[in-house]
Amino acid sequence: MSKSFYNLIDNEVSQIVEDNLFKSERLIATPQQASIKLIDGKDVLNFCANDYLGLANNQLVKKAAAESLEDDGFGMASVRFICGTNNVHRELEKKLSEFLGYEDSILYVACFDANGGLFEPLFGKEDAIISDSLNHASIIDGIRLCKAERYRYQHSDMSSLEQCLQQAKENKARHIVIATDGVFSMDGTYAKLDQICELAEKYDALVMVDDCHATGFVGKNGKGTPEHFGVEGKVDILTGTLGKALGGASGGFICAKENVVQLLKQRSRPYLFSNALSPSIVKATLQALEIVENEPDRRARIKENTLYFREKMNELGFTLKGESHPITPVMLGDAEIAQKMSAALLEKGLYAVGFFYPVVPKGQARIRLQLTSEHTKNQLDKAIEIFEEVGKSLKVI
Ligand SMILES: *Cc1c(COP(=O)(O)O)cnc(C)c1O
Repeated sequence: MSKSFYNLIDNEVSQIVEDNLFKSERLIATPQQASIKLIDGKDVLNFCANDYLGLANNQLVKKAAAESLEDDGFGMASVRFICGTNNVHRELEKKLSEFLGYEDSILYVACFDANGGLFEPLFGKEDAIISDSLNHASIIDGIRLCKAERYRYQHSDMSSLEQCLQQAKENKARHIVIATDGVFSMDGTYAKLDQICELAEKYDALVMVDDCHATGFVGKNGKGTPEHFGVEGKVDILTGTLGKALGGASGGFICAKENVVQLLKQRSRPYLFSNALSPSIVKATLQALEIVENEPDRRARIKENTLYFREKMNELGFTLKGESHPITPVMLGDAEIAQKMSAALLEKGLYAVGFFYPVVPKGQARIRLQLTSEHTKNQLDKAIEIFEEVGKSLKVI
């Protein structure tokens, strides 16, 4: 046992506390939904789940999972290529690729793994990866694990992206891939996919989009940011999660051409060296996708809720980031204010979490709210009322 090691860890944790950057985890005592109970018995409105379509506690989704437990058992106890592939895994891979407009797809136990295992098998040192500076940690890590030349463009800055493309061409990159979040999860903004795809065509680059905050509810049919921007068929590789709008349990996927998926199944390390998804999650996700297709009113409601809530909060004088996406960040600047505000909101019955360094840049602390299709007008009005009270008492508005 090295005393100095543990001392160093102690110091680091104390520093995080001192800087008001310590994140504590609240215990929830009910299923995930628009209104939840905390472990101390307090009822609060829930404005921080990724449960965009309210499927995390949906009866049909739960029933599909429960039936699968009976029919298929609990776990696969194997990776996919050994004995971890049930026909439902292939069914979901086919369903996801068909729904999203791709030749095939590959499942992972998380989108973090999908992004982590995507780049290394497909791109080598002769290639170039051009990444948005605000991309999700999992994309950044995935790129780090790959030997390709790395370029980073300023967030959503198309001239910065074009400079990177030119540089990569000058450096004689064999293949170039542009990697971006479809929706930036801290800001609620969309990548400029139409322009990105145009630049990709001009420079003969591939496009990779992580659509975790879009699959199922962004775009007319819920097919995500490519549909939202009318660039279906132009995004070469699409990654996504089963852990947000599609029921919220866990799981991730990559959609691509058939040969790309084939190679990933041979070489992608988080796929080869990690357990298969539980069949109950797979069948519940198939049910969630069916709801996405059959109940477009959920998408209409989340849109309505988002526009209504943003309008009212703007009127009150809050500074919001993003556009028309249910991720609604209320900008505060200072981490301490964000901590205080989130505590005061909770006290009044609104659960919304403060985000600060290192998940957002220093000085850009915020409360990130997330709306769902299942928030009622009453719940939205109550939340707005609480925000007004707390905002005034903390002199934010
Ligand atoms: C949530 C998220 C992930 C990780 O997804 P998991 O399935 O939870 O691992 C990856 N990328 C983005 C953009 C996300 O928002």
